[in-house]
Amino acid sequence: MKALLVANWKMNLSLAKATILAGALRDFVNSSRMLTKDKKLAVAPSAVMMGDVRQALIGSGIRLAGQNCSANEAGAYTGEVSAESLLEYGCDYVILGHSERRKYHMETSEEVSKKSEAALKNKLTPIICIGESAEDRKNGFVIERITKELNLSLPNVLYDATSIVIAYEPIWAIGSGRVPSIEEIREIMELIAHIARRKFSFRLGEVTILYGGSVTPENSRDILKIPGVGGLLIGGASIIYEQLVQIIELAFKEDAALT
Ligand code: PEP
Repeated sequence: MKALLVANWKMNLSLAKATILAGALRDFVNSSRMLTKDKKLAVAPSAVMMGDVRQALIGSGIRLAGQNCSANEAGAYTGEVSAESLLEYGCDYVILGHSERRKYHMETSEEVSKKSEAALKNKLTPIICIGESAEDRKNGFVIERITKELNLSLPNVLYDATSIVIAYEPIWAIGSGRVPSIEEIREIMELIAHIARRKFSFRLGEVTILYGGSVTPENSRDILKIPGVGGLLIGGASIIYEQLVQIIELAFKEDAALT
């Protein structure tokens, strides 16, 4: 199967642990030869570790992702990281609009949209995160929330749909050990694909949609089988070597996802 796995390391791991984990992942993918053009793995370390992690991953084919970027090109924006500098560090992707950024940094969907345009301008693939809260779900507003958040977060410039990735991450599922049902995920995958198609038109190809939120080796097999799921955004399990490797095997090993 075709899939993209993204390991979101967040603000976890010391520099020493991050480089050891990156080196171990490099050795694993090199010996197992599981990565191909259609089976991609990206790791998103904190920005200050990007250079060291990049070094540790050399020759592995594992991609790098930023965890955020500025909507601005350059200038007096203390503490920000530009899309251009992520590109210079060898990133292929940047995670945008993660619910933790929306919550702790008051990021709006309009800002996420602008950031995604900055990313695309710098040849990075934005991974645009959206997801409903527990309250939205309780009140039956999941469809409304996802529709609104996605429409506002997508870039406004017409790019090829294949140059963006959308991650469905229910806020209540992140780090909680709870995941939506297979049917609930399938329904949202359909909705996201429909919105993306309407925005980018059919002729521009299909957008990749990831699921994220409490992904583990135990549940990833079933999630990966859901129609429309093009891969996983993995938080907690991605900083534990044994767990991440199991998920990679389930996703990429020939026929593992079918058994
Ligand atoms: C995330 O925060 O992107 C995430 C998926 O976290 P976890 O897997 O820990 O729920």
